[in-house]
Amino acid sequence: MKNVFSFGDGKADGGAHLVDLLGGKGANLAEMTSLGIPVPPGFTVTTAVCREYLRTGIIPDDVGAAIEEAMRQLETRARRQFGSSGEPLLVSVRSGAPVSMPGMMDTILNLGLNDSTTEALAHTSSNPRFAWDSYRRLIQMYGNVVLEIQRENGEDPFERLIDRARTAAGVEKAIDLPEDDLKRLVSRFKDRISEHSGLPFPEDPWEQLWSAIEAVFRSWNSRRAREYRRVHDIPDDLGTAVNVVAMVYGNMGDDSGTGVVFTRNPSTGEKGLFGEYLVNAQGEDVVSGKRDPVTVSRMAELVPQAYQELVHTCAVLERHFADVQDMEFTVERGRLYLLQTRAANRTAQAAIRIAVDLVGEDLITRTEALKHVQPEQVARVLYPAVDASEAGEPLLRGLPASPGAGVGVAVFDPERAIELAAEGKPVVLIRRETSPDDFPGMVRSNAIVTARGGMTSHAAVVARGMGKPCVAGCADLTFDGEDSAAAGTTAIREGDWITVDGTEGCVYPGRLPLLEPEPGSAFQEIMGWADEFRMLRVRANADTPEDAARARSFGAEGIGLCRTEHMFFGTERINTVREMILAEDEPGRRDALTRLLPMQREDFIGIFRAMAGFPVTIRLLDPPLHEFLPRTDEELNEVARISGLDAGMLRRRADQLVEANPMLGLRGCRLGIAYPEITEMQARAIFEAACAVQEEGKSVHPEIMIPLVSDATELKLQVSVVKRVAEEVFTERGDRVSYLSGTMIEIPRAALTAGEVAAHAEFFSFGTNDLTQTTFGISRDDSGSFLPMYVEEGILAADPFQTIDETGVGELMRYAVERGRDRRKALKIGICGEHGGDPASIDFCHRLGLNYVSCSPYRVPVARYAAAVAAIRHCD
Ligand code: PEP
Ligand code: MG
Repeated sequence: MKNVFSFGDGKADGGAHLVDLLGGKGANLAEMTSLGIPVPPGFTVTTAVCREYLRTGIIPDDVGAAIEEAMRQLETRARRQFGSSGEPLLVSVRSGAPVSMPGMMDTILNLGLNDSTTEALAHTSSNPRFAWDSYRRLIQMYGNVVLEIQRENGEDPFERLIDRARTAAGVEKAIDLPEDDLKRLVSRFKDRISEHSGLPFPEDPWEQLWSAIEAVFRSWNSRRAREYRRVHDIPDDLGTAVNVVAMVYGNMGDDSGTGVVFTRNPSTGEKGLFGEYLVNAQGEDVVSGKRDPVTVSRMAELVPQAYQELVHTCAVLERHFADVQDMEFTVERGRLYLLQTRAANRTAQAAIRIAVDLVGEDLITRTEALKHVQPEQVARVLYPAVDASEAGEPLLRGLPASPGAGVGVAVFDPERAIELAAEGKPVVLIRRETSPDDFPGMVRSNAIVTARGGMTSHAAVVARGMGKPCVAGCADLTFDGEDSAAAGTTAIREGDWITVDGTEGCVYPGRLPLLEPEPGSAFQEIMGWADEFRMLRVRANADTPEDAARARSFGAEGIGLCRTEHMFFGTERINTVREMILAEDEPGRRDALTRLLPMQREDFIGIFRAMAGFPVTIRLLDPPLHEFLPRTDEELNEVARISGLDAGMLRRRADQLVEANPMLGLRGCRLGIAYPEITEMQARAIFEAACAVQEEGKSVHPEIMIPLVSDATELKLQVSVVKRVAEEVFTERGDRVSYLSGTMIEIPRAALTAGEVAAHAEFFSFGTNDLTQTTFGISRDDSGSFLPMYVEEGILAADPFQTIDETGVGELMRYAVERGRDRRKALKIGICGEHGGDPASIDFCHRLGLNYVSCSPYRVPVARYAAAVAAIRHCD
C-alpha cells in the first residue's frame, strides 16, 4: 500500500478523489498540481499512517524509507538540499484531515533551519533579517507544537520575549528588529526550549522532521481537535494526513506576502474575490490577526502579475470544483503559489445565494444545488439570529428547543409578562417549566427560558408552534423566590435585559443586537426546486385558524396535527375545560361540554377555511391531567366562581384526579372511553364545522385522529362514536362530508399490534414524542438531569426526543408500517411528533415510505427542504 504521495512541479501521484487517504489539503494540492496551478512541491503522508502511528506510537520502517525517498525527490524538484549550508531546502509540515477542521491541528514552518542553514539562507536570500526571523519562528513553533510548551498566565512565553524585544527596539513587527536583536531572540528561544525539555533545540533537520511529523499526527487527538469533532459529528477514527511542502516565503520583502481569498463573499454570497493580503509576512500572521492586512484587490497595485494569476486561478478552481473556494496563497518575490484550496465555509444566506447562482452559471445542476445547502441553513434564514460577533460567554446553556433569537427584560411570572408587555416592554419569560396557564404570558413574551423540560416539553412545543425562541432545560437555572433566579452564581432579577438564542440553546446577559432574517429571491427559487424533488408531503401542526393560515403561507399541504386541548389555552376556555374535567357526574360534564362546543366549532371553521382543499387531521382531546388541573387555590376558586360549583367539591375532585404518572394516566383515548360525551362533543363540533365550510363552497377533508391507543378495541370503540355522531350531523344538515378516521401510533403496543389496529384505522400518524417516551421509559418532560450527559458521553448518539432513535423507536415504526399496510394497503401514514421537523428524522421517514411529515408552521420550509434532500440522497 502506498503511504507517501508526491505533488508539485506539474506531477502528482494523488488527486481530489483520494481525500480520505490524503486529507483535504493533500488531495487538493495534488489536484491543483494536475490542473497546472503553481503549488510548491511536496508530499503527503497518508491518514492510514496516522492511524497506525496513533495505535502503535511508531512510524513503521517502510514508511520511514518512503518519506526519505520522497524528501530526496523533493530536493531534486526544489533544486535545494535539506540541511545544506549551500542552498538549504526548508519545508513546512502541515496537518490535513479528510474533513476540514480549521485551526484544530498543528503546523510547523521553516523546518530544516539550524545555526548553519540560517547563515546560508541569510546569504543566499541577501536578507539576514528574513533568515533570522524564519529561524525564530521555527523554534517557536517547534516549542509550541512538538514540545507542547503551554501558555503561562494566558500568554505564550515566546510572544512575551518578542514583545520585550520589540518594545526595546521601538519596532512594530519582529521582522523589523535589527539582525543582532533577532539573533539574541533566537538564543533566548533556545534557552527556553532547553529549560523546558532539558535538551537543546535539535540542530539536525531530520530529527526536526521526524518529531514534527509525529507531533502533527498526535495533534489529531489534542483536546481542541477532539472537542471540535464531537461538536461537528466527525468520526474519531479518520486520522490526519501530514503534508511536507517546500517552503515558499511571503516574508522576503515588499514584493512578497501572504493571503487568504474566497472566490465569493462567504457572508453574502456575492460574486467576486473576497479576502485579505499581508505584505511581507508568513501564513500564521494572517491567521493570528496580529497585523492589519489589506483587501486582496490591493494586490493589483502591490504585485500586479501575481494578482492577475490569482484571479485566473480562482476562476479555474471554482469551475473545476464547481463550488466556492477558500484558498491560502503566498507571493514570493512577485511569484504566486497556492498553498491550499477547499470548499468555503459560508453563512446560510450565502449558501443559498451561491447554490442558485452556480445553477444560473451552469456550474451545477439543481439536484447538486440542493445538496449544497443544509436543511438547517434554510431554518437560519427564516429566523432572527444573535450576532455572533457581539455575543460573549452565555449566562445559561440549555436545549435549542425553538429556534430564533429574542431580547427582553427578564420576568418570572406570566402575569407580570402580560403587565410589562402592556406597558410596551419587550419581555423574556423565565420559568421552572411552563403549563397551559402560562400561555397568555408566553404569547406576549419575545422568548421563553425554562429550567426543566426537554425538546418535547410544553414550553418547547408551544414556543415552536408560535415561532418564538425557547431554550429549555437550563440545568444551571435555579429560583430563589417569585421575582429572581440565578444562572449558576449570577443573579437574574426581574427587569434585567437578556438575549435568548433558541437556535443554539444559549441565553446571554444584556441586550445583544439581532440579525434580521432576509430570505430573498434565491430562497424562493431553491424552495421551488425542493418541492419538485421531494416525495414526502409536508403538513403542519397547527391548533388555531391563525396558525393554519401561517402554515399555508410557509407551504404546508394540510394539517397533520391539531391538538384540540391546545384550543383551550385562553383563560375563559381553560376554566371551562377544568369545569368539565372536575365535574362530578355526566350531566355536569355535558353542561361544560355544551359551552365548549361552539368555541371548538368556530375554531374548526376557521381552520377548515384556511386549509380549504387540504386535509386537516384533528386529534381528539389528549390533556395530560397535570397540565390542566388547577394548581393553586386561586385557580381553583376561579373555576368555582365561574361555574357556580362548590369549591370544596372541586378541591376533593381535583385531589381524586391527581396521578402519580400523569403522562401514563387518564389521557388520550382513555378519557374519551371513560367519558364518551367528550368524544361526542368533539366529533359534533368537527362535523358541524365541516358541513358549514363545505356549504360555503370550499372543499374540506377532515381526518379524525384518536390519541394514545394501545389496543385495537380502544380505537374501535372511539371510531364507532365518531361515526355515529357523523351520521347524526349529516342527517340533521341534509349534507355529507367525506372524512377519514384513524389513530396515532404513540405507544409501543399499538405499533406491535399495528395489523389489528389498522383494521379500524384509515390512517396512522406516529406520535413520536410519546412513542419515544414510552419506548425508552424516559420522561419527555424532565429528562434534563441525565439525557444531556448521555449524549455528551456518547451513551446515546443524539437526544432521542430531537432525532428519531432509528434502532429502537424507528424499528417499532418500521414494524407498524409493514403490519399496517399488510392489513390495509392504502393506509395513509404520517408523523406528527416533533421529529417531523428534524432533517435526520425526515430522512428516516422518507426511507420508511411515509406519506407525510407534520411539524410546526415555522419549520415547514425546513421539512420541505429536508424531504427533497432525502429524496435526492436515496434516489437510486
Ligand atoms: C406525540 O406524542 O408525538 C404527539 C404528537 O402528541 P403530543 O405531543 O401532543 O403528546
Ligand atoms: Mg402524544
